[in-house]
Amino acid sequence: MAILERTDWTAIAVALGSNLGNCVQHLQQAIAQLAALPSIRRLQVSPVYQTPPVGPPQPDYYNACAIAETCLAPHDLLQQLQAIEAAAGRERLQHWGPRTLDLDLLLYGDRQIQTPDLTVPHPYLTQRAFVLIPLAAIAPDWVEPVTGEAIATLAQRLDSTGIERLGSMEALAESP
Ligand code: ATP
Ligand code: CA
Ligand code: CA
Repeated sequence: MAILERTDWTAIAVALGSNLGNCVQHLQQAIAQLAALPSIRRLQVSPVYQTPPVGPPQPDYYNACAIAETCLAPHDLLQQLQAIEAAAGRERLQHWGPRTLDLDLLLYGDRQIQTPDLTVPHPYLTQRAFVLIPLAAIAPDWVEPVTGEAIATLAQRLDSTGIERLGSMEALAESP
């Protein structure tokens, strides 16, 4: 008798950021690489936002968020995200310094994870308008498990000064 294997899929949210080189291309390539993983399905991408930098003086960021489902365990997913960052030439030279590509795991279902190399929900999720505003565009009703509040509610509470919606990733990639 055939044994049917059931795969468990968990909803995830990932933040994307870039402020070095061709930023839109870095974001777009990251999405293409995530979409190409068999361990990721149902990928949805937010619009792209231009946001003022946090940390040392540096160019504005291009930020977006993606939601999807994964059958990877949290640390395996983190490893995949770091491989995609490395493919974009990500270097860690300065804390919160400029980067070609940053991929942060924001949410993994309703799990709370605290290990030396992975904290989920992402520790600054509820404080960052440049993350919550893109995420609220695609997952307004997702309840953040630490506060018990919806992403849209958390986003509305933050100061969104300087955050500008540029448009969809496809539209930006096509424009000259
Ligand atoms: P921040 O975490 O404040 O957004 P950053 O993105 O600039 O800062 P990085 O240099 O990209 O920080 O990552 C530092 C380390 O953070 C990584 O090596 C990774 O192990 C760890 N880390 C912990 N939790 C997460 C998470 N949820 N997503 C991504 N990396 C995480
Ligand atoms: Ca980050
Ligand atoms: Ca990061």
